[in-house]
Amino acid sequence: MLSEPPSFGTPLACRPEIARLPPYNAGLGTDAVKARYGVASVVKLGSNENPYGPPPSVRDALSDLVSHVALYPEADRPLRSLIAGGLGEAESRIVLGNGSEQIIRMIPEAYVSPGDRIVTVIPSFGLHILDAEAMGGLVEAVPVTDSCEFDLPAMIEAVSKPLRMLIFSNPSNPVGCTMGESDLRALIAACPPDCLIVVDEAYREYAELDPSYPQAREILRAQSRPWIVLRTFSKAYGLAGLRIGYAVTSSDEIARTLGVVRDPFNTNIAAQLAAIGALKGADHVRRSVERTALDREFLRAELETLGLEVAPSLGNFLFFRSPVPSGELAELLLRQGVIVKPWKESGYTDRVRVSIGLPEENARFLAVLSNVLKTVAVPETVEA
Ligand SMILES: *Cc1c(COP(=O)(O)O)cnc(C)c1O
Repeated sequence: MLSEPPSFGTPLACRPEIARLPPYNAGLGTDAVKARYGVASVVKLGSNENPYGPPPSVRDALSDLVSHVALYPEADRPLRSLIAGGLGEAESRIVLGNGSEQIIRMIPEAYVSPGDRIVTVIPSFGLHILDAEAMGGLVEAVPVTDSCEFDLPAMIEAVSKPLRMLIFSNPSNPVGCTMGESDLRALIAACPPDCLIVVDEAYREYAELDPSYPQAREILRAQSRPWIVLRTFSKAYGLAGLRIGYAVTSSDEIARTLGVVRDPFNTNIAAQLAAIGALKGADHVRRSVERTALDREFLRAELETLGLEVAPSLGNFLFFRSPVPSGELAELLLRQGVIVKPWKESGYTDRVRVSIGLPEENARFLAVLSNVLKTVAVPETVEA
């Protein structure tokens, strides 16, 4: 048997900003769960992927992939120009990322200096906080209300001090709550004039089924603060495995600055071709998004029937309160092959996020969950 090799040499200290941060918690994948728990089939409802996959047009787009792989993917213009055309934006203001996560990192690399104030929300999409902290930013995360909505007065108060950047996802991941038009206007108006406003619209395609979902770009364009809107092909477009997302920026200057911190050739040719293909599959995307929204409301009702408190959501996921610590609940579900995301942020460790899967996957999650809930000790008084 191999034992751990002894470590030699001088320990290498990293920057103090980095030493304080945890590695990203991506959770277990399907194969890891099968191996660890000995289950034959796994339902993966932990990462908000589209269970219907990408549009069929992606298959055609990738059919000749091998003929493209020998050269560096330097021409990202075809995709940028398609995106720009679809949005009515200038191509020069679109920046592609190896996933929008990469852009979430590029933004503080370009704009956050040690000691800069950043405002976001909690529960949060972790990278909104970690990537800003990695650059020495001081992040204030404003909690959602008890009913799991954005706390507008508290957010307005938080942005009313010197501020480098406001960043949050709308709808929120993990909560699902959505900021409507008048609140978004009020929040933006409360920000200092030179503050960068970043709205992460990873779940836009789901949220825009609801007529109250705001057109953030129009609201942002009507004022003078610099802004970035983030979008991704990982969720509704079903391309999470290829890693591609993009930013729409308020100026050529911001796009150029992000171009400085961008890895050269940061989006690979398979991802670019697939995204071009996916944009041709609007029908498939729309159908899968509509179906998912229906199933989300069905699942919400079922969870509420089990006595669980569920946050409002316009995303492809639900955030609910667990009667036992979320890590424990998630572990019990894993043993039966169901992957969900137990929340780890302080103050929210009794919350679980579950993605909306195929109807049969949702049914299996519900069946396993209701069995598990019968076995766990529920406290006498459940907090309302
Ligand atoms: C999933 C998600 C992303 C990540 O998207 P990629 O394009 O896959 O990197 C970004 N922001 C939020 C809020 C997300 O939920």
